[in-house]
Amino acid sequence: MTGDERFHTLVTEEAIRDRVRELGEEITRDFLGRDLVLVAVLKGSCIFLADLCRHVDLPLTLEFLGLSSYGDRTQSSGVVRITQDLTHPVEGRDVLLVEDIVDTGLTLDFLMRHFEVRKPRSVGICTLLHKPSNTMKDVKLDYVGFTIENRFVVGYGLDYEQRFRNLPYIGYVED
Ligand code: 5GP
Repeated sequence: MTGDERFHTLVTEEAIRDRVRELGEEITRDFLGRDLVLVAVLKGSCIFLADLCRHVDLPLTLEFLGLSSYGDRTQSSGVVRITQDLTHPVEGRDVLLVEDIVDTGLTLDFLMRHFEVRKPRSVGICTLLHKPSNTMKDVKLDYVGFTIENRFVVGYGLDYEQRFRNLPYIGYVED
């Protein structure tokens, strides 16, 4: 039992599987012959990354970035602190940041600036979900799985007070 009885389904397990495969194939084509590193933003992106990277048919490497959020927030403050940094330099490499969801864009805006000083060849963004209605910082998203309405969602890596990350689908609570 995952305790998910309270959630409605927004994106099914099958739809996620199909879309993640498509994104992986697109990334494979786009980064052919390049030196790709996929950087997952913990913890929410870890399940997406695990599935996505298996559809990218390239000799890539994986890195993980830990960010602190202040409390178990349901809203982004944009105040971000790095709690776990990369283990290898990314200078001269093609970095693709893998995010679970882009809401206000504040987190990614911070991260893009964080990466600039490390002199990668390029920095792109791949997000599973995008909530455009909340945009405060317009960050260029290179790959988007699903564009969704302004709802608080859980599952497939996304939490509510640290729980429900293990739901195989994306769910929401009716207001
Ligand atoms: P942003 O800085 O773009 O506003 O927020 C990004 C982060 O806020 C995400 O990585 C995620 O941790 C959190 N977040 C934003 N919207 C949601 C949501 O609907 N559900 C969950 N579980 N987290 C969210």
